[in-house]
Amino acid sequence: MKRGRLACASQFPHTAIARDARNPCDHEGMDKGTVLVVEDEANIADLVDLYLSRDGFRVLKQGTGEGGLAALRDQRPRLVVLDVGLPDIDGLEVCRRIRATSTVPVIFLTARADEVDRVLGLELGADDYLTKPFAPAELVARVKAVLRRTDGLHAAEVVQVGGVVVDLGRREIRVHDAPVDFTTKEFELLRYLAERPGRALSRQQILDSVWGPDWYGDERTVDVHMAQVRKKIGEACVITTVRGVGYRMEPAAP
Ligand code: CA
Repeated sequence: MKRGRLACASQFPHTAIARDARNPCDHEGMDKGTVLVVEDEANIADLVDLYLSRDGFRVLKQGTGEGGLAALRDQRPRLVVLDVGLPDIDGLEVCRRIRATSTVPVIFLTARADEVDRVLGLELGADDYLTKPFAPAELVARVKAVLRRTDGLHAAEVVQVGGVVVDLGRREIRVHDAPVDFTTKEFELLRYLAERPGRALSRQQILDSVWGPDWYGDERTVDVHMAQVRKKIGEACVITTVRGVGYRMEPAAP
């Protein structure tokens, strides 16, 4: 049964998420989750897809950095396999942008020794790397090892304010114990406030931390996302608007 579903998911990667979102098994950790593969060489991406799918992962493939970042935002994978040499944005820059908003584990694929040096030289928060050519089975082993390690790290990372739980390990928000769907930005926004209860946070501070210092845009973006967050958490906890400043999450009543 499980096998059939996963085989289906790998044949139709774009429908896999919607299918699983309706499947209660998804919340029970019964499948291994989604791996995003950002790689412009189709034969490598297909091979990685084949091996990871065979092992029970759902695989999303993107051939560009921009496509990868969009997929990360929309699909919230458990792990990213990231080629350094991409046609639009350099893989290291993609990783930098990922790290501005997400702790998702990243494994780099590098083609040359100088790329390895760059991956290791810059502290980008990558979790591992593999040099091409590599054995696909080795990549699967690395993926599992990184997930074991990072899941352990995040196991205790749960922030609770009132009736809202931000579960960093599961990348899940629960409102009165029920999982609620948050976009990546909404998740990071709520997390940022929940980790700083009782503190007034300016819109600029929030933008710098949640959207990243390189983000260019209007402070009203924060308000738009905050409205969504408030709608989703309802009365479970209180986010107060601080006039002329920004927002403050109220600590839960004792
Ligand atoms: Ca490449």
